Amino acid sequence: MHKEIDTANLKEAQWWEPVEKNKILCTLCPRYCKIGEGQPGFCYIRQNLKGKLYTIGYGRPTGFAIDPIEKKPLNHFFPGTSILSFGTAGCNLGCKFCQNWSMSKAKLDELHSLSASPEEVVQLAKRYHVPSIAYTYNDPTIFGEYVIDISRIGRREGIKSVMVTAGYIDKKARKDVYKYIDAANVDLKGFTERFYQKLTFSSLKDVLDTLVWLKNETDVWFEITTLLIPGENDSVEEIQAECDWILKNLGDSVPLHFTAFHPDFRMLDKDRTPVSTLKTARKIAIGSGIKFCYTGNVHDPEGQTTFCPACHNALLKRDWHDVIKYNLKDDACPDCKTKIPGRFNLTYSPSYN
Ligand code: SF4
Repeated sequence: MHKEIDTANLKEAQWWEPVEKNKILCTLCPRYCKIGEGQPGFCYIRQNLKGKLYTIGYGRPTGFAIDPIEKKPLNHFFPGTSILSFGTAGCNLGCKFCQNWSMSKAKLDELHSLSASPEEVVQLAKRYHVPSIAYTYNDPTIFGEYVIDISRIGRREGIKSVMVTAGYIDKKARKDVYKYIDAANVDLKGFTERFYQKLTFSSLKDVLDTLVWLKNETDVWFEITTLLIPGENDSVEEIQAECDWILKNLGDSVPLHFTAFHPDFRMLDKDRTPVSTLKTARKIAIGSGIKFCYTGNVHDPEGQTTFCPACHNALLKRDWHDVIKYNLKDDACPDCKTKIPGRFNLTYSPSYN
C-alpha cells in the first residue's frame, strides 16, 4: 500500500524546477534527475512529494565522529586539530569501489538516522572543543541545504566547515553550497572519462570544472585525493596526465594525496594497492613540479611528511593520521622562511558552553 508522507516537517529543496507530466527536474548536480511524483532521485534523499522537491536528508545525520583532520585527508588546514564529522544516507555517484557503501548506498529508512538541527550540530562541535565540522562519508552535495544552514551558523560562531566531496555539483548550485565553506577535499577519482563513466556513473569534465572554479573563484582552501585502484587508474601515463593537468590549471601548490584502495562493495576482485604504486605516483607528481604530494592509507613516513619546497626541511611529520612533529613558524619554514600554502593559524576563539 502506498504510504502517504507528511511534508509538514520536511525541508523544501532549493534547486529544482517543475517539468512535463508532473515531474521535477533536480538541478543540484549534473545528473539532473527527472523525478516523478512520490519518487526519489538517484541519490535517494531528494524526493518529489505532491509536486515539490524535498530534501529528506535535512537534519538526519547517520551519526557523528571526531576525527583527526588528517583523516579527511587535509594536511594543510590546521594540521593536528580534530574535526566533527558526519554524513547522511545516499549519494549522487555510483562508485563500484565505494569505500563507505553501507551509508552511501542506503536509503534513509534503512539507517538509524539521528535528528539534529543545524544549531545542534554547531553546538556539538563547540561542546567538544572541535574547531571544524566535516560534511563527509557520503557526498555532502546531496544535502546542500543542510550544509548551508550549518556552515552559516558555524561561520558566525567561529567553527569552520569542510566539504569532503567528489565535486560533482551543478555550476549555479555550487555558489550557494560553498558560500560559507572554508576548505574542501575533492576526490579526483581517475583521469579518464572511461573510468568516471564505467566505475562512478559520473563525468570527469564536471569534476575538473569544479576544481578550476574553486581555484579561480573562491577562497576555499582545497586539496585533492586520488584513490589508486590496481589496473583501473594507476598507470604511469594516467597519473602523469593528471599531474600535468593540475599544474597547468591549478598551479603547483594544491596538495595532492594518492591513497590506497581496499577491496569493497562491487569491486572485490581487485587487490589492495601496493605501497610501491603510491610511492611511484608521488615521485611522478613531485618530479612534474607539484610541491606537496602525499601517500595515504599505508605506512610511508616520507610520503606523509610536509617538506619545505625550497630547503627540504621536514616541517610536519605524520604517522598515519597523527602529527608527530610540528616545525612551522606561523605559516613558514623556520629555517629559510619560505611560506607554506594552507591555513595554519587558528585564530578563532569560540565561547564554549
Ligand atoms: S542531487 Fe540527487 S536527485 Fe538531484 S540530480 Fe543529483 S542525484 Fe539526482
